[in-house]
Amino acid sequence: TMTIAEFDPEIQAAIEGEERRQEAHIELIASENYASPRVIEAQGTVLTNKYAEGYPGKRYYGGCEFVDTIEQLAIDRACELFGAQFANVQPHSGSQANGAVFLGLLAPGDTVLGMSLAHGGHLTHGAAPNFSGKSYNAVQYGINTDTGLIDYDEVERLAVEHKPKMIIAGFSAYSQTLDFPRFREIADKVGAYLMVDMAHVAGLVAAGLYPNPVPFADVVTTTTHKTLRGPRGGLVLTNNEDIAKKINSAVFPGGQGGPLMHVIAAKAICFKEALADDFKTYQQQVITNAQAMAQVFVDRGFDVVSGGTENHLFLLSLIKQDITGKDADAALGRAHITVNKNAVPNDPRSPFVTSGLRIGTPAVTTRGFTEADCRELAGWICDILDNMGDESVIERVRGQVSEICARLPVYEQ
Ligand code: PLP
Repeated sequence: TMTIAEFDPEIQAAIEGEERRQEAHIELIASENYASPRVIEAQGTVLTNKYAEGYPGKRYYGGCEFVDTIEQLAIDRACELFGAQFANVQPHSGSQANGAVFLGLLAPGDTVLGMSLAHGGHLTHGAAPNFSGKSYNAVQYGINTDTGLIDYDEVERLAVEHKPKMIIAGFSAYSQTLDFPRFREIADKVGAYLMVDMAHVAGLVAAGLYPNPVPFADVVTTTTHKTLRGPRGGLVLTNNEDIAKKINSAVFPGGQGGPLMHVIAAKAICFKEALADDFKTYQQQVITNAQAMAQVFVDRGFDVVSGGTENHLFLLSLIKQDITGKDADAALGRAHITVNKNAVPNDPRSPFVTSGLRIGTPAVTTRGFTEADCRELAGWICDILDNMGDESVIERVRGQVSEICARLPVYEQ
């Protein structure tokens, strides 16, 4: 049989282009990481051929003896890693995991209280264009724009006023520690379920470096591909048997058909990697690197939202410098540094333009960046932002990026 290169040179060329891009560019997108070759290998196996609707031991298809073993290992390791009693490893993505919670615990039109997209929440936490905002009555909380911190008093006030059936804690762009006991208290006060979406910090939680929401939440969702460094996918955890049953029905047959067994095998491998001792060392370095970078920006006169970071990411506000997130993102891109533009507190610009950047360290840490490397990198970013429009600075940094990327390859050649 022909290889991809022989059969489909157009796709092969694009794959190779992406391989080169990942090696030669510095990745600072907070939601991205580089999965291990093992995790990638699992996803290219014959497991992709198998239909396995149902759950281990209770399938709607024959020939599931081996995939049952795989899914049960994934479930057991997820439970061990996060100290949960029940896990569903089938959601195809983080959004699918969140969709399953809505479908399992709520009825259309029910009120939910989540963090707004503009203040760091995710689309699936009740944003207007998403299913969660269209089919449910979504009320949104945010941060105190002076401090950059979640305004828990506002969360409580909105909860008392709107009596949500579910409160959602979790974020895509927030650099501080969430107060899970306080969320629990607010949920109990109004009789709401508490869902925690720990997608961004799951790796830190697994390593014991960020509070584990499992003891506080009725249900916890996550992606497996961010700090957790596994394959693209979703996961739902709970300690409540009744909720576990509802979630299982909501994932299948509620929202999905056949599970992606090649991805579930990769999730199982990712959980095994996360249970190993060196995973904690990695996650500690992710945090140390984020703090080292944030400090350079502060020292060079930039506004870091909330003043710093306690996790793997931080937001840079460029309002004071009058630089748009869109222009900053493009200038850094020309130097082969990949970030994403992000709305910041009191942002005067539209979500497509913004006045800020989101910067995260999971990917650079995986390829071996130390604190010193991260300080240097943050300095280069400051140089570009201090000299917007000066192509010679961009060119100089592009050379420096090229050197460090060659010194610290992602995948050994
Ligand atoms: N939840 C949070 C907090 C996220 O940041 C994301 C992804 O950005 C998701 C859920 C959705 O994950 P996916 O892109 O796999 O649907």
